[in-house]
Formats: sequence, structure tokens, C-alpha cells
Amino acid sequence: MSRGDHNRSDTSPTVHGRIRGADADGEPTTAHSPKLGLSRAEVLAWLREDDPARLDDLWRAADDTRRRFVGDGVHLRGLIEISNYCVRGCTYCGIRAPNHGVERYRMGEDEILACARQAHDFGYGTVVMQSGEDYGIETDWLARVIHSIKHDTALVVTLSLGERPEADLAAWRAAGADRYLLRFETSDADLYRRIHPDLPGRVSDRVAIIKRLQELGYEAGTGVMVGIPGQGHETLADDIELFRGMDMDMIGIGPYLPHPATPLGQLAAGAVSESGATATDQVPNTETMTCKVLALTRLVRPDANLPATTALATVNKSDGRVHGLQRGANVVMPNLTPPEYREKYEIYPDKAATHETVEATQQSISGLLAALGRSVATGPGGRRHSGH
Ligand code: SAH
Repeated sequence: MSRGDHNRSDTSPTVHGRIRGADADGEPTTAHSPKLGLSRAEVLAWLREDDPARLDDLWRAADDTRRRFVGDGVHLRGLIEISNYCVRGCTYCGIRAPNHGVERYRMGEDEILACARQAHDFGYGTVVMQSGEDYGIETDWLARVIHSIKHDTALVVTLSLGERPEADLAAWRAAGADRYLLRFETSDADLYRRIHPDLPGRVSDRVAIIKRLQELGYEAGTGVMVGIPGQGHETLADDIELFRGMDMDMIGIGPYLPHPATPLGQLAAGAVSESGATATDQVPNTETMTCKVLALTRLVRPDANLPATTALATVNKSDGRVHGLQRGANVVMPNLTPPEYREKYEIYPDKAATHETVEATQQSISGLLAALGRSVATGPGGRRHSGH
């Protein structure tokens, strides 16, 4: 993407109305009403900002905006990792098809329904069924599972099953699925092609699939990884521009975490420049960088549902989730996958809560929300209040 303002370096980062106390037109603003919709140049300047005191202003602006637009309620969405089979060769992901070190599993219908009932009993509004791109998950079989969940519970059903053909997506929508999550991962087309190889004869265009999902009546979610080798700051600013234009219901943002059994995970740090970004422009895969993207996304999409992701909770085990919730996030996705499968769904190593019981996860999240003075939001938590 080329834009005229790419090289502007004179833009000092401001969250309008918070730092200067007046917006660009000289209109007075108050500390509680930061002007939203900062420009791409300002987004880029913030992505490059490292002064902790200035970043505190960004965190506060994102937190104020979150409170004003989506409130203090935190939506809990139960994650069920239903299969780790995958046909794809994504170079970042631990469950990629060529990784023969993975013991593969696919959950049965009864196991999935038991997890869904648990989500219902915990008072969650939504379950998210996620997997590798697994064609062993047959269209009609999953349609039955979706139908049973909708029949047994009042849960909203979200799917995150990769780039399935349109007929599958339509069948699952007809069976009652409400939402679909498909991250575009990065807006840099070359970088995307390098990390997410096409399947033979099928060009991967996730933005096009997301549009199709919306036409089918799904609420759609997307997202990116932060700090992919070869990802520069300009690219990340473009990612946020894409969020601005996409009308997404949910946007998941997590740090890229190297998995040693993947080509990207084995790439030496020094080799990054060869694959794209220059050494100095390489985005770090840190907690702070991820929080910057999260906070800026809150400012450009004030009413989106933004999770404090598991990857963020993994990069800083003690505070990642808290920081996410304090810097723009309003959703947490507790992992309800049975423990024996959880450790096999290793998309990156050392995933937070891998060795916790479901009850312990539930308790620690409730405790954390109470400590933050945030409540558990009830109901389906859709952005459009469309009554699913
Ligand atoms: N097969 C589905 C679900 C993938 S897992 C799909 O491709 O959409 C969900 C998300 O986890 C991915 O979209 C990716 O953004 C993230 N992820 C995968 N591997 C990761 C890694 N090594 N580090 C950080 N995030 C990763």
C-alpha cells in the first residue's frame, strides 16, 4: 500500500485532546473525551513511541474510550480447540501439516457438547470452536454439533476453522453458527504469502472470505500477529488502517511467538532483513508493542470487541492479560478444551493456562476481573445488538 504520508517524521504522537488539551482545529477538549480516529501518520508515530510516560497517555486514552463505548463489562468466550489436524503449512504455526512431531486429535461430538454445557454453566454467552484447517471435520457432522449446541443452550456459536469453502460456511450458518473468526495476520501481501503459503490451486485471500462471511450473515472477526519476522512499523500502521475500514465485530491482536518446530521459529534473528523489514524497522514481538496495537485499534474502532488474547497472556504470564484489559480490551477467551487435548493444540510454545484445569482458569479470570473492578458481561455480547 502506498500513501503520501508514509515518510512523515515530524508528527509528534498525540492522542487528540489528551496531550495537547486541544484538537488540531484548536477546539478545546476535555481529558475524558479524547478525539477518536487519529490519522495513519499519528498511528505510525505512536507505534514508534517508546517513552513510558507518553505511552501511559495512550493506555489511558484507550481505556477511557473502551469504557465510554463498550463499558466495564468483560465478555467471556469459552474456547474449545476441537481439532489440531491441519492441511496448511503456515510457517509460524506449531500445528502446521508438516510438523510430524504433533500428536493429532479431533474431539468427538459428546466431548464438544460437554464443553459447551460447561460454558453455559459458567454463565458465558459464547463458545468459540477453533481448529486447524481440518477437512476431517465434515460439513454435515459439524452442522449437527452446532445445531445441538444451539438446541441445548442459549450460547452464541463462533467458528474459527480456517479457510473452508463457501458451501461449508453457508451450511454452518444455516445450522445456527453466528460468528466466524479469521485473522488476516498481516496486510503486507508479500509477507503474508511467505508465512501462509497457498494450497495448490487455491490463492488465500482472507479479506475476501471475511466479506463473504458477512454476506452470509455471520458477525465476522479478524486480527493480526505483532512482531512477525519481516513485519515493519509501516505494515502495522496499514494493518490498523485495514481494521479502520473493515467493520469488524471482533479484532484479535497477539504477539507472534516463535515455535521451534516451524520454519519461522527457526529463523535466526539476523536473517529477518532478508525476508522483509530492515533490522531497525522490525517490529518487536513484545508485550508493549502488542498493547500499542491494541490501544490504537480501540481508538480507531471504538465499539469493536477486542480480546486480551492468550498470546498476550503468554508473553507476560503475570500481567499480560491485565494490561490488555487496561489498554483497550473488553473480551477474554477462557480455554475450555479438555486438558488432554490442550497441550496438543500447540500453535506456539508454553501457551498460558495449558496445564490449568478449566475450573482454575475460570476462577483466576473471575478474580482478575474483580481486582480490576470490571464485571462479567452477560448476554451474547454481539456488537450490533442484532438479537442473536
Ligand atoms: N486454523 C485457524 C485457527 C488458527 S489459530 C485459522 O488459521 O484461522 C488462531 C490464530 O492464532 C491464528 O490466526 C494466528 O494469528 C495465531 N497464531 C498461530 N500461530 C501463532 C504463533 N506462533 N504465535 C502467535 N500467534 C499465533
